[in-house]
Amino acid sequence: MVEHRVVIVGAGPAGLAAAITLARVGIDVLVLERRVGTSPLPRATVLSLRSMELLRSWGLADRVLAGADDVEMTMRETPTLARVAEGATIDVGYPSAQQSAVLSPTRAACVAQDHLEAVLLEELASLRTARLERGVEVVGVEPAASGVRLTIRDHTAQRRTLRTAYLIGADGARSTVRTALGIPVRSSGATVAGARIEFRAPLWDLLGEHRHLLYAVTAPSAEGVLLPAGLGDRWIFAVTAQPGRDLPGNPTVADLRRRLQRAIDVPGLDPRITRHDRFSSRGELAERFSHGRVHLAGDAAHRVTPRGGTGLNIALADGYDLGWKLGWVLRGLAGRSLMSSYEPERRPAVRHNLERSVDPSGARRTAPLEVPVDLSGRIKHLWVAPGVSTLDLLDDGFSLLTADPPAWRRTLGRPAVAAPVSVTGVSVLNARSLGLGPRGAVLLRPDGVPVAAWSTSPSAGLVQQAAAAFLDHGASGGAGSAA
Ligand SMILES: Cc1cc2nc3c(=O)[nH]c(=O)nc-3n(C[C@H](O)[C@H](O)[C@H](O)COP(=O)(O)OP(=O)(O)OC[C@H]3O[C@@H](n4cnc5c(N)ncnc54)[C@H](O)[C@@H]3O)c2cc1C
Repeated sequence: MVEHRVVIVGAGPAGLAAAITLARVGIDVLVLERRVGTSPLPRATVLSLRSMELLRSWGLADRVLAGADDVEMTMRETPTLARVAEGATIDVGYPSAQQSAVLSPTRAACVAQDHLEAVLLEELASLRTARLERGVEVVGVEPAASGVRLTIRDHTAQRRTLRTAYLIGADGARSTVRTALGIPVRSSGATVAGARIEFRAPLWDLLGEHRHLLYAVTAPSAEGVLLPAGLGDRWIFAVTAQPGRDLPGNPTVADLRRRLQRAIDVPGLDPRITRHDRFSSRGELAERFSHGRVHLAGDAAHRVTPRGGTGLNIALADGYDLGWKLGWVLRGLAGRSLMSSYEPERRPAVRHNLERSVDPSGARRTAPLEVPVDLSGRIKHLWVAPGVSTLDLLDDGFSLLTADPPAWRRTLGRPAVAAPVSVTGVSVLNARSLGLGPRGAVLLRPDGVPVAAWSTSPSAGLVQQAAAAFLDHGASGGAGSAA
């Protein structure tokens, strides 16, 4: 007997994104999380343009940006922080505020992961059909044709089993779900080892008018990266070994503090260290992201090194992609074959970011190289009215944008399209900018990826055929009008 429709293992960014996407369309979803409380670690500190667009579409952008550091999305390479004026500004693949303003209704942002997760958890709690159970660890996963049997253990070591029609394994890099399914992981690149300290210090006073996403300190014996991590004066100082090597001299916290003081280079400025840890990371990619009714998302499916800052962003994108597709299947808008598009659509972006993260010069990238990967083929952003973007016209079924809504609406009656199609009018100018012409139209998925586009007047059955082809094959036709 199936007791749940969807169970998600892990309340990190991937699991929360999937749960929110499903619960927003009324699907019952249970999230199981091993941790009793939330993680206080800042971890990732950058949200890409596409991540911010997703958060904006959920009405969460302002709450997320309330915890953002007001920085330019660049790296400053400098001998020390005190000598920041002597440094050079380097692109790290994120769009500037000006580039964001052209490409998107929102902007990439510097936001610590603990702040983001707090906003996502608050959103999840407000959704009627979502439930989060904490302090429970999934210890067994047995897939069957009609569902998945899970064994879970709570904090008193009591075990119970439950069954679910679909399972999302968003349980991080050491995924129990992935291991239980026997899905191998391939490693790439050398292991990058390092040490990190989290501290409080009033560094902004020192850094002048232009603030950056990260500061790479280069002076001998002070080398390391400083990252702002929100809360006004919280910072991270990370020291990384040569790839494949351990940190020379095996530094203690006292050693790291001295190195941090040299990196800041202001006598008398005494950083208050709040946390420290060692880390090691490498590129890892699961051989498969799916196994029957089980799908892996985020670090459970792939792991990138912190270089490039993309781990959190691809986790969010995975969770959203799984969420809307599973939502369509469970609402009866698409057959199960739609789920087979998950891996082929996500893998290229994942592979790109993974290769970037294991490339020693992968931090240094231009926005034109990285932004198209991040936007993953979504339609171009245009302002259609004050404060209203083309991205705001996307519905949770199909959306059809056209400068000639009556003509296209007339063709939609019979035969009916399985999934609802919302037709929205745009100006002739906007239609032209979308490559459509005054009579044309573009049919879009909920994520804004075109299914089909036409530059001429509609004929009966045109939209139905395109929608059916998409629903049969489970992948976008790729009309090529994306940003
Ligand atoms: C210290 C640190 C610093 C980082 N810095 C960066 C950075 O600078 N840039 C960057 O891009 N990325 C960084 N990352 C990586 C980034 O945090 C991850 O890529 C991101 O969190 C992945 O999200 P996720 O949801 O896939 O997995 P996670 O965030 O790992 O979430 C998985 C969740 O599943 C839960 N879980 C695991 N197993 C079970 C189980 N069996 N049963 C129930 N629950 C379970 C865990 O408790 C956890 O809450 C950092 C990570 C760490 C730990």
